[in-house]
Amino acid sequence: MATADITIPEDLKPADGRFGAGPSKVPASAVNALAERGLDTMGTSHRKSAVKKQVKRLQEGLAEFYSLPEGYEVVLGVGGTTAFWDVAAFSLVRTKAQAATFGEFGSKFAKELAAPHLEAPSVRKAEPGSAARLEAEEGVDFYATPHNETSTGVAVDVRRVAAEGALTAHDATSSAMGLAVDVNETDCYYFAPQKGLASDGGLWIALMSPAALERTEEIAASGRHIPGFLDLKTAVDNSRKNQTYNTPAVATVILAAEQTDLLNSQGGLDYAVKRCAASAENLYSWAESRDFASPYVTDAALRSNVVGTVDFEGVDAAEIAAVLRANGILDTEPYRKLGRNQLRIAMYPAVDPADVAKLTESIDYVVERLA
Ligand SMILES: *Cc1c(COP(=O)(O)O)cnc(C)c1O
Repeated sequence: MATADITIPEDLKPADGRFGAGPSKVPASAVNALAERGLDTMGTSHRKSAVKKQVKRLQEGLAEFYSLPEGYEVVLGVGGTTAFWDVAAFSLVRTKAQAATFGEFGSKFAKELAAPHLEAPSVRKAEPGSAARLEAEEGVDFYATPHNETSTGVAVDVRRVAAEGALTAHDATSSAMGLAVDVNETDCYYFAPQKGLASDGGLWIALMSPAALERTEEIAASGRHIPGFLDLKTAVDNSRKNQTYNTPAVATVILAAEQTDLLNSQGGLDYAVKRCAASAENLYSWAESRDFASPYVTDAALRSNVVGTVDFEGVDAAEIAAVLRANGILDTEPYRKLGRNQLRIAMYPAVDPADVAKLTESIDYVVERLA
């Protein structure tokens, strides 16, 4: 059957068809709340109380969600995770970093860590679909790994590298809000709000340990030239006043605060982790039971509960994604540079596990007709 002729029956379709890994589904309730709260915040000064109240709501909500340990702070700034990589290179790395890379996002950060003011980073690389581990190394003062590699759907445990005086940082852009973590095991758990936080892009958020805050002070006082936009000390000082250094996306802050409050009211991190695990169970058990599909990540212990990747055989995944798209089920295409016959499904807390189950029914329907 030609792809254009395939109409998925309504009763097989998910109630909400947004499965993008980022930007990701923003719940209707949050969009509606924005319409209401936006009227006395958007278009008003980010240095005054209405906007600062929203920033504070987000900071306090995240502190509650993560049972933030004593001395940790919720720091935020403008520019998304990509900007934060440079923030870290300028304001957190003393001389040399070690980076674990096993996909696109980890590799990108490793490139930023090869900055001219630093020694060449040591890179521990593993093939996409598997994971590389950080390891204590002489001369390294900053260790970095993705918590969840969004390009491949591989998640690792969050654990601090046992290296005296060094910092460990985790890119939690897609794992934040959905994967289990003990923040005591990291010095910098950073993310952007357009993935697990069900918000929009443009900001970075970092849960920083006392050691990371101290390192920030040390480097700020060292005389190193740090561009203002990338100056973490400036961001810390502003965050303590519930502000950002330069103008933030206020709608992004409000949507992120909505999702954080919602998850806190439903049971916090434990609730969110279980919800994502239920979605993942629906996706992976289905993929394992079909001849034409299989989970891309062969080691089940590394399979992400927030970003699922499924390989297809004997059927063109791009065609499936196109039919799904034509039927209102969006952004199931794989990460473009991975180049596999694959679908990638976001299963962040905002996504209903029942919708993931419906998605698999929709895929079954499409595959049957494409065959
Ligand atoms: C999406 C993503 C990024 C990039 O985030 P931006 O806010 O677009 O810069 C970085 N790291 C990971 C793990 C991601 O998933």
